[in-house]
Amino acid sequence: MQRIVWGEGSLFSSVLGRQKYSGAPLRWSRFVLFEPVEGGTLLFNALTRVLVFTDAALDVRTDPASLPDAALWQERWFLIPQDANELQTADQLGRVTEMVYRASLEAEEKSSFTVYTTTACNARCPYCFEKGYAPVTMREEDADRAAAFIRSHAAGRNVSLRWFGGEPLLNTAAIERICADLRRDGVSFRSSIITNGYLWTEESVASAKEDWKLDWAQITLDGTEESYNACKQYVCSDPSPYRRVLRNIGMLLEAGIAVGVRLNLTLENAEELLRLIDELQERFGGSKDFGFSLHELFEYDFLSADPAWQDGGRILDAYRRLLLRLEDYGHSLDLAQYNRPRKHCMADSARSFAIYPTGELLKCDHFRAEEVVGDVVNGVTDPALVKSWRERSAKTALCRDCPLYPACVRLKKCPDEPADCSPMMREIRLFNCRRGMRTEWQRVCKSGQEKA
Ligand code: SF4
Ligand code: SF4
Repeated sequence: MQRIVWGEGSLFSSVLGRQKYSGAPLRWSRFVLFEPVEGGTLLFNALTRVLVFTDAALDVRTDPASLPDAALWQERWFLIPQDANELQTADQLGRVTEMVYRASLEAEEKSSFTVYTTTACNARCPYCFEKGYAPVTMREEDADRAAAFIRSHAAGRNVSLRWFGGEPLLNTAAIERICADLRRDGVSFRSSIITNGYLWTEESVASAKEDWKLDWAQITLDGTEESYNACKQYVCSDPSPYRRVLRNIGMLLEAGIAVGVRLNLTLENAEELLRLIDELQERFGGSKDFGFSLHELFEYDFLSADPAWQDGGRILDAYRRLLLRLEDYGHSLDLAQYNRPRKHCMADSARSFAIYPTGELLKCDHFRAEEVVGDVVNGVTDPALVKSWRERSAKTALCRDCPLYPACVRLKKCPDEPADCSPMMREIRLFNCRRGMRTEWQRVCKSGQEKA
């Protein structure tokens, strides 16, 4: 028995279509991931993005000739002729989807803006990328100009704002002003915020809900009370900033604002993060608006080089343990990223910009003076620079051997991604994909039970 959990999207089916059964000897496509689950196996094809459940126990060693339904597996590109050049097929498909994606850029329905209200911060995290820059804060007139740019660039589209910094709550005046200007001009908008969460008050939470149309706040926590307080080094006399941030998370959730706690995994802090997850889950797990995201924070170059792979293995184990603990609490990854074939982030979108406090426009939220593409008064002044942010990274030898080859999009200029994917990064991405496969299947099983 086979059950399609996710069918291919219309783009994939119109470009690739169904593979004809040629009668030639078959083999499994290298783009297929197998995941054993209760009662059978899940198979995800990263070329066609089809996810199938079968009640058979299959894996890459299963001889296609032994399958009673080989034609069905071939039709959907899970099985291919032994001499097929699937990298070439993936490259051709990639070129077409890239063209379709680029042609659709101008038609994006939403305009998104990341607004730096200030680059100053009340914490002093060791990993902050703003370190070394003189802090700049958005003035009233810059906020008005930013709002005017947002309105004209959105040109009637819905607007999504993301308050960013530094610590954006150090300049709520700029947020209030931009929101008031947009409301006055009839612009429809929602917002989110990346904050350390310390400065919230009852008043600012109420304004955020009402006036900023804030739906979501991301708050980074680096550990439980003692290590968090030591890491953040807040400029304050508060004996425990950690407790205050937790109180504020509670206030946000109570106001109906979703909170995502960002966990930054390093080589040292896995045990600490496991304790933190338990603690936060106990306190906030009852809220449907509470969640987590897990990120690895380390020097990619260091880990991609031998002999540091040992540490890569250690961090991979830690990553898996943390992700499984989050799953135990119902915070699961999904396959959503494979639903949008070519988009990477704001940098390669035509409708997204970051706005620096002084009005410079950027395509990426990591500020670098040489990457300024324009300003809020004159708009984009360097279209070639904007275009350069859409360039994809070349595939490497590691990619050519990776099941995610057709689905993986990386930007050449993304400062968050290494030039070469390391074996560990690849393992993390594959692990995420396998967990996402399970989530999608569980969703289908659950909805089937609900219908029954
Ligand atoms: S970048 Fe990494 S995950 Fe993506 S295809 Fe290459 S090896 Fe695989
Ligand atoms: S750091 Fe990378 S992912 Fe983030 S906005 Fe810049 S290009 Fe995009």
